[in-house]
Amino acid sequence: MTFHSRYIDESSGIYLNGICRVAAAKILKGILVGTLTISKQKTKVMIFNKPGRSYALKFKFYVDGTEIDIVSEYCYLGVIFQPSGLFNKAQDYLYMKATKAKCFLFKMLANQNISVPAAMHLFNTLIGPILSYASEVILPMSVANLRESKLYKLFENIKLEKCQIAFCKFVLGVPSRATNAAVKGELGVFPLAINMCIHALKFLNRLQLMGSDSLVSKSFHDSVMLDLPWYKSCCNIIKISTPGIQLPVVLDKLNNLYGCIKIKLQDIYVKTWSEVINRKPAPLGNGNAQGNKLRIYNKFKTEFAMEHYLKCIIDKHTRSELCKLRISAHNLMVERLRYVPNKPDVDKRFCKHCPTKPDTEFHFVLECTQNKNYRQIMLDKIQDMFPQFDTLPDDVKFIKLMQCTDSEVAVIVGQFVKNSVKGRRVAS
Ligand SMILES: [Zn+2]
Repeated sequence: MTFHSRYIDESSGIYLNGICRVAAAKILKGILVGTLTISKQKTKVMIFNKPGRSYALKFKFYVDGTEIDIVSEYCYLGVIFQPSGLFNKAQDYLYMKATKAKCFLFKMLANQNISVPAAMHLFNTLIGPILSYASEVILPMSVANLRESKLYKLFENIKLEKCQIAFCKFVLGVPSRATNAAVKGELGVFPLAINMCIHALKFLNRLQLMGSDSLVSKSFHDSVMLDLPWYKSCCNIIKISTPGIQLPVVLDKLNNLYGCIKIKLQDIYVKTWSEVINRKPAPLGNGNAQGNKLRIYNKFKTEFAMEHYLKCIIDKHTRSELCKLRISAHNLMVERLRYVPNKPDVDKRFCKHCPTKPDTEFHFVLECTQNKNYRQIMLDKIQDMFPQFDTLPDDVKFIKLMQCTDSEVAVIVGQFVKNSVKGRRVAS
């Protein structure tokens, strides 16, 4: 049994609100008529209060003369409750469980050449349910004060999302330092939090429709009346996803609006994602050598969806090298020198093989002398397929090659990138 701190009187003990009184009366009646027994060892008391204190030294609870422990956390049906009403420890616990399952999946897939859609399906089927466990309760408490402008950052910072992004990087074969926005963009993967929001709203609707005599329903109406954090957060999700419609109207028709709300949340996420990858780089010099890591990526990435090359390139090593080049998670000097002390400006990060040329993605694909043989093979094949290709300006050629919208072009470019990276590795 739990008591909210607003019902604790400092001087005279504990007062319960109406619902707790009904609950306590039912439990007491059950004990008296012999239909309910209390295990003194298993029974614990948790006092909910905003600072999250246990109050173990301040109050005493007894059953038949036996003192009942006041605890600062309690695991019920796999969810860890805390006196503060937050679910940080529950998230840590689920994250740990999901990480164990994810590592097992990593081992299973490490030597397999599984397709990207199949790998993502395995994640969604095997790991997703662990991360989403009890999300209808946990998620709204993790995104308090949700606003449209904060949605992207709040969703990205949820601990459970880190498990998904780690798996996405594993599937793409890119290092952990790869930019999250680019990884999500390549796969067209939305944060798990969007589906969790829909779970929470479905739960809210179920509570609304419950018979008014049930304890759960009374408790729900109490939280509505007091505007408690879980209900308030659910309302925030509704407000940002149904702008211009009065909250009571949405709550009344919630059952028919899950699809619309999900699409709106996805739209808000994609809008901010687009702003992130298109962020203007800082001007060169004065220590602003870093710029926007995705300054090349945003030239050919326009749509938030799984890239075609991830489906048509079968060999995972080829796929991985092409992906690294596209999202700037490669080992070219332009990237390697980002992490050294006194890092030089982008245009001063020269190629080892062509000392006067910055070692950029463009240089690697169209200029570097180290790759010229592989490049010639690639360009000959592309020229055969598109006779006009040779007449295009170099920067347009670069974009066309990196877009990889055509299956055959994707395979040819992937092969070039893989062979060129290998050739550089051997040469250095
Ligand atoms: Zn070079």
